[in-house]
Amino acid sequence: MFTPEFLRAEEALFRAAAAGSGEQRLAAMQRLCTQFGIDRGLAIFTYDPAITGAYAVAFSDTDVRFGPLCFKPYTEFGLLLRVIAHEVLHVHQKTKLFPITSHNERELLAYCDTLFRTDLPPINDKATLRFFVSKGLKYYEALSAWKKFRYRNLATKLQEEQVRLGK
Ligand SMILES: [Zn+2]
Repeated sequence: MFTPEFLRAEEALFRAAAAGSGEQRLAAMQRLCTQFGIDRGLAIFTYDPAITGAYAVAFSDTDVRFGPLCFKPYTEFGLLLRVIAHEVLHVHQKTKLFPITSHNERELLAYCDTLFRTDLPPINDKATLRFFVSKGLKYYEALSAWKKFRYRNLATKLQEEQVRLGK
């Protein structure tokens, strides 16, 4: 796991770059992916000033796009890293030899990855965690019957997490 000193230093570097130019943001985003091992060796990053939204990190089929709002002062570092990793995973899902063609399946797997991976700093905000759990369950419910059967263990994990987080 990462030491608190390492996390503080990487967060400070990223926050400084997040206030800079598109090129500085691009370099900072790529650095995070390398430093935290979330690039899967294939994600290409693009800075796109037109992208807006809550986290402003999105994916196209072949790259991860991010915009000016990707890191607000109050954004938890763990949340930022996990949102990037979520989008990198989508690129992987779409570009691997046997792509995952179902949108609902891609999202279920990506939300479970966001919530349950243990190699990145945690998300502490319970409202955010509840939101991600509800998204995961929503995509599970939208699966076909046989895929529901295939992923029932993930649904159980999400339901247990929902209970743990409370209302
Ligand atoms: Zn997603």
